[in-house]
Amino acid sequence: MDEFGLIDTFVSQFDVAPPPRGPGDDCAVLPKQGPSCVTTDALVEGVHFTRGTFSMPDVGHKALAVNLSDLAAMGARPAWFTVALGLPGWATARDVKKLGGGMARLAKLHRVELIGGNVTRADQLSLTLTLSGALEGPPLLRSGAKPGDALYLSGPVGDAALGLSLLGTNSGASSPLVDAQRRPVPHVAFGRFARRHCSAGIDVSDGLAQDLGHLCRASGVAAELDSAALPMSEALLDAAGSRKAAQPYALRGGEDYVLLVAVRDPPAFERALTRAGFEAWRIGTLRKGSGVNLDGVRLTGRLGFTHR
Ligand SMILES: [Mg+2]
Repeated sequence: MDEFGLIDTFVSQFDVAPPPRGPGDDCAVLPKQGPSCVTTDALVEGVHFTRGTFSMPDVGHKALAVNLSDLAAMGARPAWFTVALGLPGWATARDVKKLGGGMARLAKLHRVELIGGNVTRADQLSLTLTLSGALEGPPLLRSGAKPGDALYLSGPVGDAALGLSLLGTNSGASSPLVDAQRRPVPHVAFGRFARRHCSAGIDVSDGLAQDLGHLCRASGVAAELDSAALPMSEALLDAAGSRKAAQPYALRGGEDYVLLVAVRDPPAFERALTRAGFEAWRIGTLRKGSGVNLDGVRLTGRLGFTHR
């Protein structure tokens, strides 16, 4: 199938506007927009996934999910996105259809609109997405936290990292941990809530310790984490065998895509959480200084995952 056939196969699975807003012209033309966020992130075969452990719909889902998580971290409402596909020789029209199918399901759920993209031959399968989200007020930044703020997580951590190690020993493994690795759920609605109720935020993509380190540096504060308060799933605790064995995954494992937020007034935040029907786990406090501490001990060394 030629380039244009592949583009049609991919795009036909999305709800798209006609040109000039949707795909099909040389550029997409957007109406005048208010304040918005833009993010871009790539998913590359051999770096972020392998064909043996991810299905094509998994890859399509995850490529969009990781970008949605960055919009969530800013408190933005997803609006539109573009996709640049790098297709190796082995990729068939059926593979392209499945990639688009996994992505289109998540796009529909978040009402984020595909407005254009590109297809090229490549050595590895790669998907580079650019997403934009609308801001309904000031964005949630990494730099807004102050000493005394409390730290909360919007979900458990560690599942995706243990899921990845399960896939390393058994590519056909299936469990909630493997699902967390293959099909992360971006916390978009929580992010929009957090924008109104939190002083700073970041998504946990590279591991709690590392991403908390980014927030601390940007805000000029130190963090005190309480190991007993780290939220861990039953699946993680079962698979790891104990809380102690699970802790490295929770602390330094990556790709959970939950949100980490700083909160100035915890009682007011918790009342707002209950009213809005969200859950969050208080894991520590910020103070003057620098660095990330766990139970009073400074964390050093490799804090999380880096993709290079
Ligand atoms: Mg991020």
